[in-house]
Amino acid sequence: MARIVMKFGGTSVGDIERIKNVAQLVKKEVDAGNEVAVVVSAMSGETNKLVDYCRQIAPLHDAREYDAVVATGEQVTIGLLALALQEIGCNARSWCGWQIPIRTDGAHSKARIMEIDTELMLERMAQGQVPVIAGFQGIGPDNRITTLGRGGSDTSAVAMAAALHADRCDIYTDVDGVYTTDPRIVPKAKKLQKITYEEMLESASLGAKVLQTRSVEMAMKHRVRLQVRSTFAPDTPGTLVCDEDEIVEKELVSGIAYSRDEAKITLVKVSDRPGVAASIFGPLTDGNINVDMIVQNVSDDGKATDLTFTVAKGDLQRGVKLLEENKESLGFQDLIADANVVKISVIGVGMRSHAGVAQTMFKALADKGINIQVISTSEIKVSVLIAEEYTELALRALHTAYGLDAA
Ligand code: ADP
Ligand code: ASP
Ligand code: MG
Repeated sequence: MARIVMKFGGTSVGDIERIKNVAQLVKKEVDAGNEVAVVVSAMSGETNKLVDYCRQIAPLHDAREYDAVVATGEQVTIGLLALALQEIGCNARSWCGWQIPIRTDGAHSKARIMEIDTELMLERMAQGQVPVIAGFQGIGPDNRITTLGRGGSDTSAVAMAAALHADRCDIYTDVDGVYTTDPRIVPKAKKLQKITYEEMLESASLGAKVLQTRSVEMAMKHRVRLQVRSTFAPDTPGTLVCDEDEIVEKELVSGIAYSRDEAKITLVKVSDRPGVAASIFGPLTDGNINVDMIVQNVSDDGKATDLTFTVAKGDLQRGVKLLEENKESLGFQDLIADANVVKISVIGVGMRSHAGVAQTMFKALADKGINIQVISTSEIKVSVLIAEEYTELALRALHTAYGLDAA
């Protein structure tokens, strides 16, 4: 007997038939003698709809009320799945985050889980009942509903698995595992049998939305055995996220991720003196705007510098406004904003010991005539910023260049 947390994403619970299908998958694990807790997302499209409602009423909405609205999608699916389970003779009960409770910090709309009370869950599971838990939500120190950021049900599931000391956390989704790149864009993408926590963390944070970044962080910290598998082909083996030493054959590059959530700002002719970067990024940091890639060029006359950097697309307008407001004191001549960019990243722990990974990337892009605007690297990744219209072309070219294409 094992204790398992099963998580089902939006598409997996996208309509009534699919919810019934999920109920069957859960029952199968229960019938096999396992103790099961289930975490579900909202039906696909629901959270987007709710977010849009908030935006229509108040573009810069109060995050507490946003959370009150967007958390409701999951309340519908826990109730429906509990009913579907009961209908097929499986003892089940639904749970909202606050009922457990799943305690989070107070960062509404992007809260972090601090603590989960497992007593009640363990008691019910021991009695043979399946808890059906709302993903994506918790309760903050102000006693109000919080949400964990988009895609947060993955994190709810992993946190639940860690707290319950589960043997496995299975993330059921609409693809049958983690691929070398998004299989919806590159048909030749290959499924990975295993991927290291580190590579999955890097891929997720660089845009591979198959798992929310924080869920991987948490799995790595608590050593949760995390598997990505398909709701629609449940017998197909998925991908295991695990330690590096569990992987025998390591590829140089394990994946290529992309993120369209990027925007580029260039400040033209900033005076080239000590302290200038600090004075520019200070107001952005104060405004809670994260700066990611940065490149600085000496301008033609050698007296000034052009500074280019990226921010999240959603922060672009606010960032531009903040900088323009401080134009005098920052002393730049022009500001150019560009939201038409994508960040493409090549990831692999093999890079630590092999040279030439970046060069392969630059050459493959050059061969397709794709201009690289900004570059950034770390120990296990190389990222470039390019024009958004080249996303698919670049992903496919890189996939081939690193020898990742499926036969
Ligand atoms: P869910 O609703 O189940 O949480 P998501 O839409 O959040 O599902 O995540 C699954 C999607 O992630 C897939 O449909 C796929 O398009 C996308 N994806 C992006 N990168 C990858 C990758 N490297 N491997 C697998 N899927 C990926
Ligand atoms: N329903 C939430 C979202 O769409 C959480 C999730 O699906 O993981 O972001
Ligand atoms: Mg998801």
